[in-house]
Amino acid sequence: MPTASRAPFYHWARHVKYLGPASIVKMFAIYQTAQRRHIVPTAPQLWRLSGLPPVSYCPVCKLIDETPAAHNYRCPICGRVLEDKAPSKIGVRVLQAKLGDVVKVARFNDIRTVKLSEYIPHITGNPRFNSYMMIIAEQYRPMPNKAPSVYTVVALEEMLKALGKRMSEDSQLTRELATNIANENEVAKAAIEELRRRREERMAAALSKALSMGGIGVATVYSGFGVKRKIAKMLLDHAAAAAAIRLGNYQGPPPIFQGRVLGSPHRYIPPLVDDPPDQVLEDEYMRAMVEWFEDHGIDLVKVWEHYQAVRDRQYKAMYSELLNMIDEFVKKHTTAKEETKQ
Ligand SMILES: [Zn+2]
Repeated sequence: MPTASRAPFYHWARHVKYLGPASIVKMFAIYQTAQRRHIVPTAPQLWRLSGLPPVSYCPVCKLIDETPAAHNYRCPICGRVLEDKAPSKIGVRVLQAKLGDVVKVARFNDIRTVKLSEYIPHITGNPRFNSYMMIIAEQYRPMPNKAPSVYTVVALEEMLKALGKRMSEDSQLTRELATNIANENEVAKAAIEELRRRREERMAAALSKALSMGGIGVATVYSGFGVKRKIAKMLLDHAAAAAAIRLGNYQGPPPIFQGRVLGSPHRYIPPLVDDPPDQVLEDEYMRAMVEWFEDHGIDLVKVWEHYQAVRDRQYKAMYSELLNMIDEFVKKHTTAKEETKQ
């Protein structure tokens, strides 16, 4: 078993809240597996091992695109905009239903034919690594009574963005999520009543408080809109960057948020830290990292200060905005569902 302090990204990770030794060792295990093939692993290699990248596919041509960026996120055969599916259990079932078992796989200019059943292990990665990253990313789900990390702030921003964006469209997914949240609230309310009936006042009060603070809908939005997956990817991306800079072999910054939604502006978030910058800069590897980013036009310390300030001063306001948006989201999409029933 590797020790946390031997991870080549330890100098960064140890300054991030909730990345304790157990989490660092988990990420190190993924990193070491990638290292068997690549001396200095890149973020996409770590993502693939953890089953984190979505599968881009064309339902018309029954084609999976392994290099969607190289094709401008369009099917290399028919030119249609590619669709994305996360390689979760449900996602894989959807892919099987939509594509059948014989699929084309495009990689740059090559197109080959494969059996989807044989190809699946390639997209789902190592299930153990996937669960490692999901456990780690869970630490950054915004919660009413848990001190936020700067990565919790990033998660909260992404959730606000996702809710804002999808409010306008009434897709199957939005309706399902809204219904789930509404149902969870109903279940929680029933549980509170039951606890009161049994005179378990303390439990009832705790659950009631969680309910009024929106702890329930938040979890659904965090995983349902893919934000948890995004945070998992970002942490691996930042670990890969920290390690590669230290080893003198970094090509980044990688375009993690680029191109996923056509027309969205490029948004790159560099590795963040929760500790005060003065303290972080005592570390020579962290100083080297700051210098590297400076050479590439990013003022790392300024970015840290920004996220730390938001974490310390705006988090509560953002959290209540999130609860309001979830409320509106549920009202809007469960109402829309009632209307379509008539
Ligand atoms: Zn096509």
